[in-house]
Amino acid sequence: MKELVVISGKGGTGKTSILASFASLAEKAVLADCDVDAADLHLVLQPRIERREDFTAGCKARIKPGHCTACGKCEELCRFDAIYYDGPGNGRVPKTYRVDTIACEGCGVCVDFCAENAIAFEPAVCGQWFVSETRCGPMVHAKLGVAAENSGKLVTLLRRMAQQVAAEQKRELILCDGSPGIGCPVIASLTGASLALFVVEPTTSGRHDFMRVAQLTAQLGIPGMMIVNKADVNEDVARELEEFARQHEIDVAGRVPYDPDVTRAQIARKTVIEASTGPAAKAIRSLWAKVEERLQHCSPASVGDLAQLAGQKQELER
Ligand code: SF4
Ligand code: SF4
Repeated sequence: MKELVVISGKGGTGKTSILASFASLAEKAVLADCDVDAADLHLVLQPRIERREDFTAGCKARIKPGHCTACGKCEELCRFDAIYYDGPGNGRVPKTYRVDTIACEGCGVCVDFCAENAIAFEPAVCGQWFVSETRCGPMVHAKLGVAAENSGKLVTLLRRMAQQVAAEQKRELILCDGSPGIGCPVIASLTGASLALFVVEPTTSGRHDFMRVAQLTAQLGIPGMMIVNKADVNEDVARELEEFARQHEIDVAGRVPYDPDVTRAQIARKTVIEASTGPAAKAIRSLWAKVEERLQHCSPASVGDLAQLAGQKQELER
């Protein structure tokens, strides 16, 4: 089974529009929206949810008001200022302490030092993940809670589920919408993928972020291809990007011109392929043929486990 991860280095380059169009063109693919911090593939593909599960990561403290004697020790020790003296009274004291679950980092110090054993330490539900059906095939996606972290762990979970769905339904391809940037979620999106497809826009920030993420994929040993989106907006920078890609052994798949049909497709909640026969749609069709051909020569996907992910993250941060 092969896995294509579409990444961009920065947000807003059109990677989701291109991935959704590839989903229209691919036969028997499983889709995975691994851009969990700003998921938007569902806006175009309008999934019908068939399975829904909580995503838990780490623990949060919770003060049990009935047991708290309001000694204040937990507030004094909390390095994250997550404990407030505004909890309900309990017959012994007029007020108790309360944990702000958004500020709580789950370090567990307050739990260890509460002499009354008044603080519970419970798994934190950070969001939900889903397996859905769409008109372009099954899709695995998630909704991360407000201020929730551990999105790299969630990405690894989604990729594992996508592989499971692909194996169950005998589908040979996973199309993954990766995260922007170069942080933990992107490393989790890329680890063990068959091919990274960079969707880059010809701007100064697009060039800078492409260079960073290209370095990351090289360190992870993932082969790369590049598409310059809206290439005609700045031909000089588009040429520079292509030159940089060639120098770094990244295949240049081609260009997509600026085309207002892309925005019209988004508004209509359709893929560019479904909504248009214009220049962008034609370019995307031709690019998909090249990407599909390239994928045939790539290694099968293997999603690393969470320990491997943590190890790679530390290595890259050194
Ligand atoms: S340390 Fe325990 S008893 Fe003291 S204020 Fe905190 S929760 Fe209440
Ligand atoms: S678990 Fe840590 S961060 Fe959370 S409230 Fe207790 S001391 Fe503060």
